[in-house]
Amino acid sequence: MGVRRDSAVGEQGSDGGRESAKTAKRSPSGQPETKAAARKAAPAKKAAPSAKTAAAPAKKAASSAKKAAAPAKRAASPGKKAASTGKKAAAPARKAAAPAKKAGSVGRTTAAKKSATPAKKVAPIKKAPSPRKQLVAPKKATAAVKAAPAEAVVKPAGDESRTALVRRARRINRELAEVYPYAHPELDFENPFQLVVATVLSAQTTDLRVNQTTPALFARYPTPEDLAAADPEEVEEILRPTGFFRAKTKSVIGLSKAIAEDFGGEVPGRLEDLVKLPGVGRKTAFVVLGNAFGRPGITVDTHFQRLVRRWRWTAETDPDKIEAAIGALFPKSDWTDLSHHVIWHGRRICHARKPACGACPIAALCPAYGEGETDPEKAEKLLKYEKGGLPGQRLNPPQAYLDAGGRPAPPLGAG
Ligand code: SF4
Repeated sequence: MGVRRDSAVGEQGSDGGRESAKTAKRSPSGQPETKAAARKAAPAKKAAPSAKTAAAPAKKAASSAKKAAAPAKRAASPGKKAASTGKKAAAPARKAAAPAKKAGSVGRTTAAKKSATPAKKVAPIKKAPSPRKQLVAPKKATAAVKAAPAEAVVKPAGDESRTALVRRARRINRELAEVYPYAHPELDFENPFQLVVATVLSAQTTDLRVNQTTPALFARYPTPEDLAAADPEEVEEILRPTGFFRAKTKSVIGLSKAIAEDFGGEVPGRLEDLVKLPGVGRKTAFVVLGNAFGRPGITVDTHFQRLVRRWRWTAETDPDKIEAAIGALFPKSDWTDLSHHVIWHGRRICHARKPACGACPIAALCPAYGEGETDPEKAEKLLKYEKGGLPGQRLNPPQAYLDAGGRPAPPLGAG
């Protein structure tokens, strides 16, 4: 997993990236435009003339959009938003009209950024996306995770209906499944024990650094019993590159003892048992359940939290509430793959500080388009890992990743 303790295990990055709104210069998605869409994009140009009066036209555009036929509504959204853009309204709005025509998309105009309540200004997606091939759900999905309680379901932002939100969310997941068909956990592991240890070690560091460190650890201590009986100072030396190595040493030795003494040396495959292990919270537990036991789980790491808020899937900020809210949008069988897709997108394209909107394949579905770089050439340079032609985080990635152009990460100390 790419980066720090934020992925299925990864990094702990700030949710920065909230640059001032940039004008949509073009549609990265290149979705087909309907005639109705083109007609509806026009109000953007009208509303844009003055920055001072931008807000009012935006409202007008919004209300007219509501009355418009469904396809037209969707297409009108970007223009509408562009119109509401404050300072750069005049010139930007004209530019925004073009993307609207090309993409007929949603959030293209995040311009409203300057506003204290951007959600209200962002046009909702009224039209369900055209049917596409469904993501094939893993068959193994079984129990272990309870469905989200009804009260955890949050209302969609703006006036996007719940149904429209569900459709848009699932379409984003399908699109991401096509972009990252090889998405996988980015920690190297060969069994549940290695995965739970690696996941604990990934706190506050990158998966790459963990992957470079664990080969020595597992070569020296291959089983829970071995690690439980280890000399802490020796383990500390091995774990030093991952940072916080004393605390991590205590955690991995502690959880190894618990696995050895309480679970017969086998990592338990139930959520309620996993979270009893020292240093194992719900996030780590779901990583293990989803990737070592084939049981559905949503991994709410820093990328996941950032992206689902950008997409307005939920406004929750508490990880447990996010998990429940997002779980209610998707069937359980999608949860694990969904987590990979979202985390991979966060690591490669939708970065915290500077999302590469101009190179984003789901820009047409994203209400936050424009938070990052919209110029395609500049955005291209922001891409990471295989999208940017760089090595990945796993020293031993799946073949599908290599076939898609991904490269294995180098071992510790290599360059
Ligand atoms: S990079 Fe992120 S913020 Fe930008 S369009 Fe894509 S998903 Fe939205």
